[in-house]
Amino acid sequence: MKPLPLPSAVLLDRDGTINVKAPEGEYVTAPAGLRLIAGAAGAIRAFNRAGVPVAVVTNQRGIARGLMSEQDLEAVHARLEQLLEQEGAFVDAIFHCPHEKGTCACRKPGTELLERARRRFGLATLADAVMIGDADSDVLAGHAAGARTVLLRAPAAPRPVEADEVAVTLAEAAERLLARHFA
Ligand SMILES: [Mg+2]
Ligand SMILES: [Zn+2]
Repeated sequence: MKPLPLPSAVLLDRDGTINVKAPEGEYVTAPAGLRLIAGAAGAIRAFNRAGVPVAVVTNQRGIARGLMSEQDLEAVHARLEQLLEQEGAFVDAIFHCPHEKGTCACRKPGTELLERARRRFGLATLADAVMIGDADSDVLAGHAAGARTVLLRAPAAPRPVEADEVAVTLAEAAERLLARHFA
């Protein structure tokens, strides 16, 4: 098989993709509540080593709902970067939406967070970028921004939205994306 080019960037959802999601309606509001999903740091490290820029694009409506502050989120993200660093991984940028549903252009499935990543990485388009996430809104945002999409979902779980690919974990998604390039 002919190797494919590396993605120009990887855009990662956070909750349920990199770290264990809080129960429905709850948020990771403090560093102690943050736990990485097995294999997630290794997947990000693999993108780092391949030279693929990585951005986190995350909806954090808990801020609009008064359940946490911008400072709380900063502390959670500092912890995230520390946990990644312990495994030799890093993210190049983190963009978040703090807003309530229906009040902004950045809450996914809106595309503004992805556009911010595109601009940060100096890309003309996201056509060669890949958005990876566990929610339909990640796939919708990715497609609306012109990126390829990978939906993270258990094999038997329903898939109301068509992604370009489905994988169970970020680790599996990264392995496949990179294997194709290095084949
Ligand atoms: Mg998610
Ligand atoms: Zn927003």
